[in-house]
Amino acid sequence: VNLQLIQAERLAAVGQLAAGAAHEINNPLAIISARAQLMECKEQDEKRRGELALISEQIERISKILTNLMDFARPCPPKLQSVDVHAVLDRVLELMNTGYRKHAINIRKNYDPQMIPIKADPNQLEQVFLNLSINAQHAMEASGGDLTVSTQMIREGRGILVKIQDQGVGISKDNLKKIFDPFFTTKEQGKGTGLGLSTSIGIVNNHFGKIEIESEVGKGTTFTVELPVDITALRPENSTSGPSCPLIMAVR
Ligand code: ADP
Repeated sequence: VNLQLIQAERLAAVGQLAAGAAHEINNPLAIISARAQLMECKEQDEKRRGELALISEQIERISKILTNLMDFARPCPPKLQSVDVHAVLDRVLELMNTGYRKHAINIRKNYDPQMIPIKADPNQLEQVFLNLSINAQHAMEASGGDLTVSTQMIREGRGILVKIQDQGVGISKDNLKKIFDPFFTTKEQGKGTGLGLSTSIGIVNNHFGKIEIESEVGKGTTFTVELPVDITALRPENSTSGPSCPLIMAVR
């Protein structure tokens, strides 16, 4: 059995339910949000203004989670273009740089000089690598360590691997079975939504790729993303564009 496909189907089912619920909650939430803001503007008492601001802030948080959910539930067909994977990885590492430095995380790059451009959706790939990089940071926050990002051409130039390897806390065998489940998180409240990996696997599936994980508790974790160089050679239809979809942003 193809576990990844079963996972994708489960995600689609959960996603549809979640999207329906999210949509229904969004409308009343927008009204509450507008009223709270209005009250905050009119309020003379500073303490009460602060409390109203807190309400608005938390509504904003719920709203972000809902947006996240709806994006996650709506599988976006990748908008394919020729993508320089190293450029995407560099951009992600650049985004993460401040956080990494703060937590004594060293970036090591081990890029395959033979790498060629692949057909993919650069925004979606960025989202996947960003999620993996954020998780790597969280895993190493306490101890610091090396984050190794490597790439490799495989299958006689028809596929590529991107490995993101951390020296963090690792993942237990029990948790390993659950990490792709939507909403599964071991992170403290406000830090994780448990949607990072489920979103990522959806994107990788849409690219006809796969994700593999090796992990040892206390030693670290390696996520390996395999992608085809030319997805159009694998896809039945040759469509290069789908409906426009917003970027799936993980709320953390
Ligand atoms: P979130 O990051 O919001 O918790 P994810 O779906 O990205 O959601 O990850 C789910 C869980 O998988 C995390 O809470 C964590 O327990 C585990 N995990 C993911 N990546 C790593 C990693 N690199 N090291 C250790 N644990 C990880």
